[in-house]
Amino acid sequence: MNAPLPVEVLKQHLIDPEICIRCNTCEETCPVDAITHDANNYVVDPDVCNGCMACVPPCPTGSIDNWRLVVRAEAYTVQEQFGWEELPQEKSLPLAAGASSAAVDAAGASQVASAGMAAMPAPPVTPPTPGATVPPWSAAHPYVNLYTHKTPITATVVGNYRVTGADTESDIHHIVLDFGEQLFPVLEGQSIGILPPGTDAQGRPHHARQYSLASPRDGERAGYNNLSLTVKRVTQDHGGAAAHGVCSNYLCDLARNDTVQVIGPFGHTFLMPNHPRANLIMICTGTGSAPMRAMTERSRRLLGAADVGKLMLFFGARTERELPYFGPLMKLPRDFIDINLALSREPGQPKRYVQDLIRERAEPVRQLLSDRNTCIYVCGLKGMEVGVLDALRDVVVQSGEDWSILHDALRREGRLHFETY
Ligand code: NAP
Repeated sequence: MNAPLPVEVLKQHLIDPEICIRCNTCEETCPVDAITHDANNYVVDPDVCNGCMACVPPCPTGSIDNWRLVVRAEAYTVQEQFGWEELPQEKSLPLAAGASSAAVDAAGASQVASAGMAAMPAPPVTPPTPGATVPPWSAAHPYVNLYTHKTPITATVVGNYRVTGADTESDIHHIVLDFGEQLFPVLEGQSIGILPPGTDAQGRPHHARQYSLASPRDGERAGYNNLSLTVKRVTQDHGGAAAHGVCSNYLCDLARNDTVQVIGPFGHTFLMPNHPRANLIMICTGTGSAPMRAMTERSRRLLGAADVGKLMLFFGARTERELPYFGPLMKLPRDFIDINLALSREPGQPKRYVQDLIRERAEPVRQLLSDRNTCIYVCGLKGMEVGVLDALRDVVVQSGEDWSILHDALRREGRLHFETY
């Protein structure tokens, strides 16, 4: 009898289109550019993916962590995956493949199932991402994916008002959603998805858009089952051309008592520490202030009941009037939070970014960085990531310390987090 021909089996990496919120985190994280997207789906190219797993921890929904054993020659192509509305069922493998999950590298690299064939080399060491992929050790346990595209929860709008000057271009809204008697547990730093009504150009329902919570875990109003979002009305694309943001315009135009379809919550790493005397360095631009507002308000509500550490905020906006929540922010006591505003287009003032202020306040920043109870959160424009990292490095190096050692520790200990778009 002829021996069966060896068949190469692949543990194929797939993204669940029903759970994915199209936030682009995986595509940005992938060190080998195996992840791509079209208007419908984010997908993994089986010819490029080396199973390094770098994309798995940062994914806020877990939709990235899907795997199928397939015959390599029959792996799902990128084009096939673009058309999916849901993941395909598991297929049974031909007997000749002799396939079992044990026959396949746990990291997802393909191997030849027949004995005697050389195994694939181990995947390369994953290059580090700038931020941590684990939460701070004392963070509370988050709930994620309680509600999905197929099973959204309905929330009622109980507040919607503008938090930037009426005469400015930045139309930013504070929107409060109430969940009534329904379960929707959240933590500061988590986000939710909003399903805008209607369909896209292809006639498909719109995908969810992700927004960070601007309120703490016990509600926008303490003791109420509600939460708030900070939403900027999108009227231009990144290049400045006219564009209509489907979800942001929908949200900014909502009236009291309107209902909204919500999915989530999402996020299991960008979470605040819970232990006494934990310090927060919060660095944000524009609507990236949402999670900072949530963490600040959580800390404010704990004052008197718990030993709250130091809070230091670096907040960038074009002008004072375009800085969301300017009024309430400036009313916070200075011995509770150290506020540093970086205004880039304030008439008569030099252009300043958050990274400039980090350098100007090098001494208190360095002191906080030298305390292992300090966690750093960065949220807002993608472009600030490099500038902020450079500024933190400069502060550390100036004091004669080694930034790469501290940076590694911050990542390993879940003390440096980025959420940028
Ligand atoms: P924006 O008004 O366009 O910019 C805010 C400030 O950041 C401006 O002063 C701007 O200066 C400055 N800036 C521009 N490039 C910078 C850089 N490389 N480094 C440091 N500062 C820089 O901000 P926005 O429109 O509100 O955007 C906020 C971002 O946060 C969006 O990308 C959004 O997707 C993201 N985000 C939002 C949420 C949410 O829940 N809503 C959550 C997470 C993240 P210039 O004068 O030079 O423009």
